[in-house]
Amino acid sequence: MQTGFFYDERCFWHSGTGYAFAIPVGGLVQPLAVGGLPEDPETKRRVKNLLNVTGLINELEVTSAPVATREDLERVHTSKYLKDFKSISDVDGGEVVPFSTTPFTKGGYEMAALSSGLVINALDNVLKGNLKNAYALSRPPGHHCLPDKAMGFCLLANISIAIKSARSKGLAKKFAVVDWDVHHGNGTEAIFIDDPDVLTISIHQDRCFPPDTGNIEEQGSREALGANMNIPLPAGSGHLTYLETLNRLVIPKLKSFDPDVIIIACGFDASGVDPLSRMICSAETYSEMTKLMRKTAKEICSDRLVFAHEGGYSEVHVPFCAHAVLQELSESEIDAGDPLAPIMDCQQPNTEMLEVYSSIISRYKNFFQIE
Ligand code: ZN
Repeated sequence: MQTGFFYDERCFWHSGTGYAFAIPVGGLVQPLAVGGLPEDPETKRRVKNLLNVTGLINELEVTSAPVATREDLERVHTSKYLKDFKSISDVDGGEVVPFSTTPFTKGGYEMAALSSGLVINALDNVLKGNLKNAYALSRPPGHHCLPDKAMGFCLLANISIAIKSARSKGLAKKFAVVDWDVHHGNGTEAIFIDDPDVLTISIHQDRCFPPDTGNIEEQGSREALGANMNIPLPAGSGHLTYLETLNRLVIPKLKSFDPDVIIIACGFDASGVDPLSRMICSAETYSEMTKLMRKTAKEICSDRLVFAHEGGYSEVHVPFCAHAVLQELSESEIDAGDPLAPIMDCQQPNTEMLEVYSSIISRYKNFFQIE
């Protein structure tokens, strides 16, 4: 069996105007000559291009997917939100809520539903045993989106939609989401906060975005207490800190939860050159984290592992980080390397700072009562 790679050129055509970086244009903010939001199609299209150039694409099962149905979307989103989104999308695009950094053009609703469709299909095919594992190059991303509100470049909650779709078909009962996008997976957390059968774990830069969510105290509510785990890391965390976080906090939690499948909300914005964070991860970090997740999936859920692309805003670095993930998922010999590795901390980690980060992880370990 092969690794599935779900992508569609139409997802790269999603766009929106009115921003310079993440700031609305106007007043003293001059429009950019090229581009606008950092959530740019090139960060994703260049992933596909690099896979083509190295030949790794030939070792993957490449496919698109049907657009998510209204029924799929309504399991997560309110009818009002979907109606408002679709009606603006049908006319000339814009934003459901002005200045919420989620602009779209005409037809943006269908592009976002296609992005959700890629994740639905990736998850379904892994759960049905048709693929070894899968990667969905979903765009627009989804992990910030709330049932009734677009947020942080996210228009539909792709992973949450895929989980509820798979559950409605009886394909699995217990799901675990590991979100290593550098920003807090607040949308996924909010959607499953009362659900004891969906474990949501988010590793993120402390109070980066959203600035007021992602605290360790938020552990799920009512009968779902313990099914949400937030791991806020200080700015400057790098390769070894991320691996230690997985080994000492995330993997023990996954093992005690015992899910049927592990889904990775795979943002690459903890890259050392990302413009929207202050972390120091490299392609090797993503490769090693993927290796750990493969090993864990093998031990606890029959290898069932699905990746959904989230953030990552360095056009140059994201393709190498994603290539490293796909090389590891597919167990390929084809290595693209990491041209930026020499400036990342995996080469020469700062040992004094590592002690500081390690003590924070020890504190979290006590807080979460992990043996
Ligand atoms: Zn992000």
